[in-house]
Amino acid sequence: MTKTVGRVSLYDYDRTDWQAFCQARGLPKYRGTQIHEALMRGANQSSLMQNIPNTLKAEIDAAFPKSALSIRKLQVSSIDGSRKYLFQLRDGAMVEAVLMHYHHGASICLSTQVGCCMGCYFCASSQLGFERNLSAGEMLEQFVLVSKEAGLRIHNMVLMGIGEPLDNLDEVLRFVDLVSDPKGVNLGARRITISTSGLIPGIDRLAALRPQFTLSISLHAAEQAKRAEIMPIANRYPLDELMAACKRYLKAGGKRISFEYILLRDFNDRDEDAEALAQLVKPLLCHVNLIPSNEVPGSRYHASRKSQIRRFQSIVESHGIPCTLRRSLGRDIEAACGQLRRSEKEKHSCGDIC
Ligand code: SAH
Repeated sequence: MTKTVGRVSLYDYDRTDWQAFCQARGLPKYRGTQIHEALMRGANQSSLMQNIPNTLKAEIDAAFPKSALSIRKLQVSSIDGSRKYLFQLRDGAMVEAVLMHYHHGASICLSTQVGCCMGCYFCASSQLGFERNLSAGEMLEQFVLVSKEAGLRIHNMVLMGIGEPLDNLDEVLRFVDLVSDPKGVNLGARRITISTSGLIPGIDRLAALRPQFTLSISLHAAEQAKRAEIMPIANRYPLDELMAACKRYLKAGGKRISFEYILLRDFNDRDEDAEALAQLVKPLLCHVNLIPSNEVPGSRYHASRKSQIRRFQSIVESHGIPCTLRRSLGRDIEAACGQLRRSEKEKHSCGDIC
C-alpha cells in the first residue's frame, strides 16, 4: 500500500551530504556548507542561491532537474490570522500546511503523506484516498518555505496534517532528525508532536527510540465497537492492544501521551462516554485533548453542543486527568483539524492545536 518516493528534494540532504557533493566535484567543502545555509534560508532552487558559482549551480540542476516545491495558494484567516498553504509538489501532487499563532509562539501543522489510507469517517483528509508518501526533504522544504514566507521563527510543530505519520515512519523519523539539526532549522524534539490513529508497530518502534517528542493518539472513542465504527484502523489494531502499546511506550521512557478525542454529538459525547474515557486512560501518564468536531461536508457526524463539551471536560477532570479543549483555528479557511484535503481542486488536514 505504501508508496515511497526516495530522495526527491534538495532538502533530503544534510550539510555533510552537500559537502560531499561538492568534494566529489573537486570543490572545497565550504561550498557545501554555503548550499546548505542557502537552503535553510529558503532558497529552494539554485537560481535563488547567492554566493554560489554558476558552475556549481549547474551541477545542482543536473543532479536535480525537476523544479522545486512551490506555494500555490495562501489563505489567511480573518478570524485569527492562521495561514493555510497549498503546496504543489514536483509530480503535481498537492498537500497543505497550516501556521498558527499562539501565546507561546508560532506553530506549524504539516502533512506527511499525499492523501491518507486510514479512512476515518469524520475526516476530510481520507475522503480522496491515498496517493503517496512525502519524503523527509519534502516535509522540511514545506517547513522552511512557510517560515520564510511568514518571516518568523517557528517554535512548535505538530504532524497532524494530511496523512498518517506512522504509515510513513522511516521518512518521518528522518525528517525529525533533519529538522532538529542544530546547524539547520534547529527545532528540538521536545517541540515536536507526532500524531497517530493507532498503528501499533509504529508505536513500538517509537518506544524503542525513547523519544523526546510528544506522542499523540487519536483515540476518539473509549470502546472498541464504537471506535471501529468511525475508525476502520481499529479493526486491525483493537483498542485493548492499542492501550497496551501505550503502556509499553511509557514504560520505555516515552513522555506523557496526549489522547485526542473528537466530540461527536450523541455518538461519543454523552456523560457515560466521558466516564468510560476517564476509566480507560486513568492508569496512564497522559493528557486528554478534546477536539470540538469541525464540520466536514458529506459526513454524518456533527459537532457536540457547547454545554455538553464543558460537561464532558469536567467529568474527565473530576478523575484527576488533565483535560484541555482544543481551540479551533482557521475555520474560515478550512484549515482546522480534519478539514485539510489532498488538493485544492477537490476542495479542501489540521489547523487546530493542542
Ligand atoms: N493520521 C494521524 C495524523 C492526522 S492528525 C492521526 O489520526 O492522528 C489530524 C487530527 O485531526 C486527528 O486528531 C484527527 O482525529 C483530527 N480530526 C480529523 N477530522 C476532524 C474533524 N472533522 N474535526 C476535528 N478534528 C478532526
